[in-house]
Amino acid sequence: MVFTTRFAPSPTGRLHRGHAFSALTAWQAAHDAGGRFLLRIEDTDFTRCRPEFETAVFEDLTWLGLDWETPVRRQSDHRADYDAALRQLGDMGVLYRCFRTRKERLALAGVAPHADDPADAGAFGGGPHAPHDEADRLARGEAFAWRLSLNRARDRLGGFDHLDWLEETASPGRHTARPETLGDMVLGRKDIGAGYVIATVIDDAAQGVTHVIRGDDLIAVTSIQRVLQALLNLPTPVYRHHPLLLGPDGKRFAKRDGAVTLAEIRAAGVSPAALRAELGF
Ligand code: GLU
Repeated sequence: MVFTTRFAPSPTGRLHRGHAFSALTAWQAAHDAGGRFLLRIEDTDFTRCRPEFETAVFEDLTWLGLDWETPVRRQSDHRADYDAALRQLGDMGVLYRCFRTRKERLALAGVAPHADDPADAGAFGGGPHAPHDEADRLARGEAFAWRLSLNRARDRLGGFDHLDWLEETASPGRHTARPETLGDMVLGRKDIGAGYVIATVIDDAAQGVTHVIRGDDLIAVTSIQRVLQALLNLPTPVYRHHPLLLGPDGKRFAKRDGAVTLAEIRAAGVSPAALRAELGF
């Protein structure tokens, strides 16, 4: 199998230094292995993605000196595939409708609604609704999200302990899936339908990705994605989760830190070679 990896940004803002590091890490790995480097636009969340940010992804990565195979896969072109996978999971009985607002869920979990509280993680679902409650809310036309029931998935798969993946960067070795840390995640949102968690898994399989190279903020979600691979009978790639690049304040770079976008770095007269060298390439 040809080594195949990808950089999969969501066009919700301008790329920053952290994205450059991630893209270079994947591109370099493909180059070193004589393999393939793909670019994928993860734009399932149409409430946050904008076409001008997609155009900027191409511009910024070209400026950085990267090249990739074409055509570029854009997730918004494949919604039907993600929805079909959601239906497949629904038919297996491992999804449930969640009508609860964030506030309702936090109240149920006994968590105070602080915006960045990791204990919240936005994932706690409160479990399936009682049948009469679900029927009432459906009849009232209330919007709902589809959540993956870990209890039902566990039953169906005979536990999670046999689900693992090979990690080559963050604590190298075999990692066992621990999906409980994120709880019953939303796979289909009220507003956008199937989201990136499931779309990424389907695309990595569809594109023959052998190595997923991405930031270590996605280690936790890998457990859920491993469960999805098992349920949907998809191959499990090798994973390389690299540390996130930290800003001068020791916090991770984020799109909101405007001063670090590649566009600004470029406008300040920094050459791509200088930026690559600074990032260790
Ligand atoms: N689209 C995700 C992000 O921008 C990356 C998903 C992945 O690399 O698997 O954070």
